[in-house]
Amino acid sequence: TITPAKRLQTLPEQFFAALVAKANARAATGRDVINLGQGNPDLPTPSTIVDRLKNAAENPKYHKYPPFRGFPFLKEAVVQRYKEDYGVDLNPETEVAVLFGGKSGLIEISQCLLNPGDTCLVPDPGYPDYWSGVALAGAEMAFMPLREEKEFLPDYDAISSSDLERAKLMFLNYPNNPTSAVANAEFYEQTVAFAKKNGIVVASDFAYGAIGFDGNRPISFLETPGAKEVGIEFYTLSKTYNMAGWRVGFALGNPEIVEMINLIQDHMYCSLFGGIQEAASEALTGPQQSVRELVSIYESRRNALYEALDEIGWKANKPAGSFFCWLPVPEGHTSMSFADLLLEKADVVVAPGSGFGAHGEGYVRLGLLTTEDRLREVAARIGRLGLF
Ligand code: PLP
Repeated sequence: TITPAKRLQTLPEQFFAALVAKANARAATGRDVINLGQGNPDLPTPSTIVDRLKNAAENPKYHKYPPFRGFPFLKEAVVQRYKEDYGVDLNPETEVAVLFGGKSGLIEISQCLLNPGDTCLVPDPGYPDYWSGVALAGAEMAFMPLREEKEFLPDYDAISSSDLERAKLMFLNYPNNPTSAVANAEFYEQTVAFAKKNGIVVASDFAYGAIGFDGNRPISFLETPGAKEVGIEFYTLSKTYNMAGWRVGFALGNPEIVEMINLIQDHMYCSLFGGIQEAASEALTGPQQSVRELVSIYESRRNALYEALDEIGWKANKPAGSFFCWLPVPEGHTSMSFADLLLEKADVVVAPGSGFGAHGEGYVRLGLLTTEDRLREVAARIGRLGLF
């Protein structure tokens, strides 16, 4: 037998891989399973972006190795988007790293900043990839509980002084997966002050930055005065442009951290296929109508689902952003037992909240990732179980 290195032994099973396997096994028995468990956008990439890739694929310039660290036009394109959407100025050469989806950066930043024995502050509940990066770096985690009564924002005053002393890095993620909470400017101002005082780097995961409801535009951490001095923002095309399969993301902000991430990537990859970079710059600089449409589709889906959930008596706050719904489980159930019940009795896949951390217990996450009719069908099936 071949023994994996210790760092691999500390990695938990990828949470979503396990969830997908369960759902697929059920569907393989021929049942009409509705999967709201994963965060995989169901809509296609806008055709203008796809067409750009088709043309670009024929360009021999892209058949060679791309430049290390990406084509300048792609970095300029994301800089333009941040200026237009958030009023944030970024230097394309020193404050932008091109990533393989946001995900690669989420893992790399822990490699850049954490030594064994260091601590990373992670939101609980939170996106499980943060844990994987910290585990691979051999560092420790200190969880910051996100509580509904505190609008799912961490309470910095509640972090113990020993955790504060060892903390080098902190992840934040608004609009939030899984709770769908959105952060405000005041919270980010507190965050910059907290990070400066304690010498902690902030990694803001802005994967759902484009998706805010009821006319509210989520704000970027980088809009906060002083943010660039203490942190970085991860930005991705996956959700904003339905490009999850294309694997395009960015680390934006603090030039020292951008340089560290680029350095790691120089050794691991040569950047993305040039044709993808060209299509990605089309996404960022072309008309943004498709983004507005996408947000309104998710908003209509949210409204349809919550109306139907209300009818069956399942009460919860509506999401303010992201495409997730964070719903309390009925009494007498854990999040896992309830998710299992929904799969077995209603052929509905949801993500159990405990998969996102101990403070996710008591909730399940549903993705708005199918049509309004199918979402109403989900509510109807759950309603028939008579649990609410
Ligand atoms: N961050 C959060 C909170 C996510 O939910 C996801 C994807 O589901 C990602 C990051 C990763 O996105 P990608 O690697 O596709 O950019």
